[in-house]
Amino acid sequence: MHALVKKAKTPGADYCEVKEKELAKGEIRIAVEAAAICGTDIHYYKWDQAAENFSSAFNVSLPLILGHEFAGTIVEVGPNVEGKKVGDRVAIETHIPCGTCFQCQNGDAHNCNNTGIYGTTCDGCFADYAVAPANVAFTLPPEIESVEGALFEPAGVAMRGIDEAKIQPGETVLIYGCGPIAIFAVQMARVCGAGTVIAVDINDYRVNMARNYGAVGINATKEDVLSEVMKITAARGGVDVVLELTGSPAVYKSVFDLIRREGRLITIGHPPGDIPVNFTKNVNLKGLSVKGIFGRRIWNTWWQLSGLVAGKKLDLMSVATHRYKYEQHQEAFEMTSGNAGKVLFVP
Ligand code: ZN
Repeated sequence: MHALVKKAKTPGADYCEVKEKELAKGEIRIAVEAAAICGTDIHYYKWDQAAENFSSAFNVSLPLILGHEFAGTIVEVGPNVEGKKVGDRVAIETHIPCGTCFQCQNGDAHNCNNTGIYGTTCDGCFADYAVAPANVAFTLPPEIESVEGALFEPAGVAMRGIDEAKIQPGETVLIYGCGPIAIFAVQMARVCGAGTVIAVDINDYRVNMARNYGAVGINATKEDVLSEVMKITAARGGVDVVLELTGSPAVYKSVFDLIRREGRLITIGHPPGDIPVNFTKNVNLKGLSVKGIFGRRIWNTWWQLSGLVAGKKLDLMSVATHRYKYEQHQEAFEMTSGNAGKVLFVP
């Protein structure tokens, strides 16, 4: 089969012939029908500092087949697999829990002490066929297409953020960042009861995309975010909740001023280093709740998403603005930093 392989710690990747591996206990082989490019893949593709950090944190060994957001049909089932069969269509959870640690035994398998990361600690999915542990495969219902299924992993990050935000009817929710996960979050916030959703970015294409999904869009390079937000939320003294998706240190420093007393901050974007925070002013006196998020809850988030997509409450497909073949990987990766929503590979 062919796959997109990272062979060296230099920019780019090779689209080449690779040998299919034999299935080990508990593994399934999936014919990949759609795969999406994530920020992590972009770091690996460019091999920047973030890739270097991630690589040493998780002991990445090259060569590595890139990619982790995908869906497809099971074509082979290895020994000791239960509950999955050839012909099932599945999407894959990236966090591979050990199943035996304290976190796993207490309902928090998404944050396992020994977590594996699909496409990082093992080969990924940018290939004709992908191998995955069956215990991280979510069976897609017939009404959900594989292209939508490939978007469940990133959309699941937004879903988890919205779930943890515990939005009350009529609240004002600010989504910081207007990338694909943010666009999913805008839709979800509205479905889950927000009265007003504000979305902020520095790219007009992305801000306009958020507006098209019903958000009040603010371009932070053209407007003063704080004064615009205070105009909208004067009576509350700020928004009820912020979902931070940019990872920008400047945003992390200023975001507290946008949130009302007793409000909530959901942090999802990863800033690259330490951020000084005045806890007395911004957290204690304000009565702020801060919740960090790394991935989806297994499997609660997947069922929430599946229900909303099947019920036509969420439109994931229209956020996937570009589709490529693996051979076009250079163009596809370039597009992720341009005027695009989610970029897909459709083999
Ligand atoms: Zn575990």
